[in-house]
Amino acid sequence: MKRTLLLNPPSFQDFDGGAGSRYQATREVTSFWYPTWLCYPAGLIPESRVVDAPPQNLTVDQVAAMAPDFDLAVLFTTTPSFASDLQTISRLKDKNPRLLAGLVGPHVSILPEECLAAGPQADFVARREFDRTVVEVAQGRAWEEILGLSYRANGRILHNPDRPFLEDLDALPFVTDIYRRDLTIEHYHIPYLRYPYVSFYTGRGCPAHCVYCLWPQTFTGRRYRVRSVANVVAEVRRSLELFPQAAEIFFDDDTFTAHGERTREISKALAPLKCTWSATARVTTSYETLKAMKEGGLRLLVVGFETGDPRVLQNIKKGATLDLGRRFSRWCRELGIQVHGTFMVGLPGETKESIEASIRFACELDPDTIQVSLATPYPGTEFYDFCREKGYMQDDALVHGQTGYQQCVVDYPGLAAAEIFQAVPRFYRRFYFRPRYMARALGVMLKDPHERKRLLKEGREFLSFMFKRRQTAACS
Ligand code: SF4
Repeated sequence: MKRTLLLNPPSFQDFDGGAGSRYQATREVTSFWYPTWLCYPAGLIPESRVVDAPPQNLTVDQVAAMAPDFDLAVLFTTTPSFASDLQTISRLKDKNPRLLAGLVGPHVSILPEECLAAGPQADFVARREFDRTVVEVAQGRAWEEILGLSYRANGRILHNPDRPFLEDLDALPFVTDIYRRDLTIEHYHIPYLRYPYVSFYTGRGCPAHCVYCLWPQTFTGRRYRVRSVANVVAEVRRSLELFPQAAEIFFDDDTFTAHGERTREISKALAPLKCTWSATARVTTSYETLKAMKEGGLRLLVVGFETGDPRVLQNIKKGATLDLGRRFSRWCRELGIQVHGTFMVGLPGETKESIEASIRFACELDPDTIQVSLATPYPGTEFYDFCREKGYMQDDALVHGQTGYQQCVVDYPGLAAAEIFQAVPRFYRRFYFRPRYMARALGVMLKDPHERKRLLKEGREFLSFMFKRRQTAACS
């Protein structure tokens, strides 16, 4: 078996583009997701190591110095970081010319031919779910036999047939064992989760058809494949043993609530463990399921409301309505479940009026916290094809070249990219600077010293981010 380095490469300062991040950009408040996808092959390759450079602030030099210890390096790459990830491979190979280097992640899964042509320093691409593909490369199996592999041979780029989606997810190792072996959980931080947190997936894929959503379209598929309840509960128990300092567990599935009955079963099985957990959800979740989750220890749900305009909601194929969003919010409030609501500006059909409608809708729903993102057309998504076909894409660089901040690359007739970009701080200001929200935040800070510290730190980081973002936009 080859000694294998599974690497989240260094990139922009505080760039959260790792193998667990759906939105690959530098964020308003420093955040890092776990490199969960890299931890599966790591658990299957005995002589492996996961190195997550951004949260450890590792430089390319520091990472390159590790190259002589390995035979194989697998780098998780993204659309915004692709060019710099190729340079990292060159630096690794300067230090160890015998090193084999491969790329994984949604970007190379969709564009393997183009990526290998652009990066002769990369030896292969492991497309889509890459767990077993990478293991077979590490085992030294003949490359022409490895499903899901694209590679170079005799001056040509070859693509083996796709690897079928993994069905038996219980057969995968616990990523939390790899977190313990190779990572430091205190490096991982998400503003709306309690610190420190531990996250993992209980299933892969999502049955919804949201046109902008990266993973189901490029990576995990539109069928929710799940681990058994017993297997999920066993990993929760293991996490509690390994990380007694963890303040909560987060189930970061594409949509944890996609199978209501299973969600209720997991919740029931978690209740005796008396741990705090949070998860992703859709506004279509039933009251019965929300109640079961609350009784099982649920603290917070992350839910995509996205827009306050019914027409935009329909354009993005969200499979939801504004009234479902209202009902969901009301039920969560009744049950005492906190809500982190996510919104986007710049989706298909967006206008000045629809942005205003979204801000009003967010204030009406009044979730505990919100996140406002610029709609980003990643290659491989329906949204990307739509923008390309209509000529709405202004730029291919999805983030700012020096900072990694999201930049608006869609430009609609009647709504310029700059107006969409400026809508983000306006959205945040109008939501967070409401007397109702400020009174609530003050109440929370007075009651809880940990929350006070956290909210003040976030407030400072957020204001500094907005300032830097404005400066960056002014300079570009
Ligand atoms: S419901 Fe969420 S995870 Fe599923 S496709 Fe839509 S945005 Fe993506």
